[in-house]
Amino acid sequence: MNLVPRWWTPVNGGVIAATCGMCFRGCVIKKGKFGVCGARTYRDEGFISPQLGRFISVAVDPIEKKPLRRWRPGSMILSLGGLRCNMYCPFCQNHSIAHPLGTVRAREISVESLVELAHRMSQTAVAYTYNEPTLQAEYIYAAAPVLKEHGVATVMVTNGMFSDAVCDGAIGLVDAMNIDVKTFDGEKYGKMGGSLEAVKRNTERLVSGGVHVEITNLVVPGISDDERDFARMAEWIASVSPEIPLHISRYFPAFRYDAPPTEMSVMERFRDIAGGRLRHVYIGNA
Ligand code: SF4
Repeated sequence: MNLVPRWWTPVNGGVIAATCGMCFRGCVIKKGKFGVCGARTYRDEGFISPQLGRFISVAVDPIEKKPLRRWRPGSMILSLGGLRCNMYCPFCQNHSIAHPLGTVRAREISVESLVELAHRMSQTAVAYTYNEPTLQAEYIYAAAPVLKEHGVATVMVTNGMFSDAVCDGAIGLVDAMNIDVKTFDGEKYGKMGGSLEAVKRNTERLVSGGVHVEITNLVVPGISDDERDFARMAEWIASVSPEIPLHISRYFPAFRYDAPPTEMSVMERFRDIAGGRLRHVYIGNA
């Protein structure tokens, strides 16, 4: 299968630059340069995504670790992770692969090899997780129908910062997603390279398109522990559907963020706030 980047357009004929259409950011990439994620580049030979179909982590995890609690509970899932990310959260729990220092070699896994791997490991679902799977969207959407033919479902664990086209492309191909809503403070979202409006819009489209969606909110002191913001987030989720499971995850210091771990009293208070609006609320990583 020949995988080439789908979501990009030349700027003014493409002599100097091209626009990436993979995520909400829409980077204009000059020839010889990379987009903000470091995963997409424009060169004389065309628009290139060097990490497409390349993975650094392959594991079999319990589905609850994604986390998904109301999609095939109790099952295991083949989990793949690649390199790089389109956001730069200071507390990144997976920074060694999301923002690697120096050269890291990822191995290519063809779609055919992935089907074989899933069968060999007796797995009926594949999750793209650990780093941001948006950057693998061309691969994921090409692999999903082939996997489905072989009885293997597709899951994405994502920050939800898709472009509209990539978001709509998931409908009918991706069976389940966990979307990480970082905070309900738009300004803080922007500082981490994301967009509150984009994650809201994409979540709403995916739910109405029939994708099973669960949401994770990592409660980070100073970023996402404001009670009023959290209550507004729970209200928004309930307005999409009170059946959407919410995973309230406890933060521990990582990467460039060294605030102490989230107090358990905050986690419990947030669970009570969300529990008044949503049917399925879970505390995780506690
Ligand atoms: S995926 Fe997003 S961050 Fe990366 S180059 Fe494309 S628009 Fe920019």
